[in-house]
Amino acid sequence: MAAMSGAIDDLDPSTLAVVLGRVRTPGGPVGPPVELTSTYHADGPFVYGRDENRTWAAFEEALGGLEGGRALTFASGMAAVAAVVESLPVGAVVVAPADAYKGTRGLLGELAAAGRLQLRSVDVTDAAATIAAADGADLVWLESPTNPSLGICDLAAVAAGARDAGATVVVDNTFATPLLQRPLDLGADVVVHSATKFLAGHSDVVLGATVTRDGEWYDRLLRRRSAHGGIGGPFETWLALRGLRTLAVRLERAQTTAALLATRLAAHPAVERVRYPGLPDHPGHDVARRQMRGFGAMLSFDVRGGAEPAEAVAQAVRLIVHATSLGGVETMVERRSRWRGEETTPPGLVRMSVGLEDVDDLWRDLDQALRAATGEG
Ligand SMILES: *Cc1c(COP(=O)(O)O)cnc(C)c1O
Repeated sequence: MAAMSGAIDDLDPSTLAVVLGRVRTPGGPVGPPVELTSTYHADGPFVYGRDENRTWAAFEEALGGLEGGRALTFASGMAAVAAVVESLPVGAVVVAPADAYKGTRGLLGELAAAGRLQLRSVDVTDAAATIAAADGADLVWLESPTNPSLGICDLAAVAAGARDAGATVVVDNTFATPLLQRPLDLGADVVVHSATKFLAGHSDVVLGATVTRDGEWYDRLLRRRSAHGGIGGPFETWLALRGLRTLAVRLERAQTTAALLATRLAAHPAVERVRYPGLPDHPGHDVARRQMRGFGAMLSFDVRGGAEPAEAVAQAVRLIVHATSLGGVETMVERRSRWRGEETTPPGLVRMSVGLEDVDDLWRDLDQALRAATGEG
C-alpha cells in the first residue's frame, strides 16, 4: 500500500477515493480481496482476526486518507460512537448537541442517568453557548449538519474554544462525508462515521469508523475495538470500500438534486419550512459555505399542519422509499418524530436523503404526495 504514498498530497479527494487502499503487486488483484480468516500464521505482522484484517486495512487507508488521519473500522456507527464515549473516565463531563443522531443522544443520556458521565446538552448552532459549555468539559461532541434538523455548527470556532478549555473535540461527519468537510483540518481530534450511510452508499451494509491524527486517541480506540470486539465483518468492510470508490460522483449528483428539490419545496404551498444549508436563508448558510465543499444530499422539510399530514406524505410517496436511514442511491423520507427519542424534533419534520434518481421524477412524486396529504399545491 506504500505504492501511492509521496504523490497523494497533490491528488483531488475524488481521485483519492479511487486509488487509496490498493496493493499494486504484479499479478495481484486490482482491488483488495475479502480476507475471510479468523487467524494468521504465526510470526507475521497479522496475528488474530479480532485485532487486524487486510480488508479493514484497505478501507482504513482510503477513509483515513480522505479525512487526513488514521482510521479504524467498527461494527457500526454506534460501535464507533461507543468506543469513543467509553474511553472516557468515569464522571467525565460531555457536551453534546440537543439535535443529533438519536442513537448518540440515547447512549449519552443512558450513561448520564447511570452516573457514568455528566451530560451538558447544547444547541451547537450557537457557537458561543457551546464554547461556554465546554468550560470544564472533557469532551465536546459535535455534528454538522445535525441530524435531523440540518443545523450548522461553526466547527473551527467551537473546536478552537473547546480545545482552549482542554476538551477533546469529536465530530460525527456522517452527513457531510470527508469529500464535503474535513473536521480534523478544522481542529477536531476525532471524527466518527456511520459508514452505513453515504460512504458505503447502497443501503446494504452496517459499518462504522473513527479517524484521528492523535496517536493516543488512535491507540485508545484500537484497544477498545479489540477489547470490546465490536469489529466490522470483512465482507461489510469490502462493500463499504467498494461504495467509497464512487462516493464523489454519487454525492455530486445527489447534492445537485437536493439543491433543486430544496428550492422547489420552499415554494410549495404545503411546506412550511425547508432546512437545507445550501439555501441562502438557512441560518448556517455562511458558515456552511466556509467549512464545506458542498451542501450535501440531506434536507428536511416541515409539512404545514404538523404530524398528521407529514406522516401522510411519508405514506403517500411511491417512487421515493419510506424508510429510516440515509445515504443510499435511493431517495428516502421519514417523519423523524415518529421515533421515541425524537420528542424535540418538530412533529411535521420530514427528513429526506436524496439519492440518484432523476430530479423531475422525484419532484413529481414529492408533489403528488404533498397534494394527496394536505390537499394543497
Ligand atoms: C446512522 C447514524 C449513526 C449510527 O450509525 P449506525 O451505522 O446505524 O450504527 C451515527 N450518526 C449519524 C449522524 C447517523 O446518521
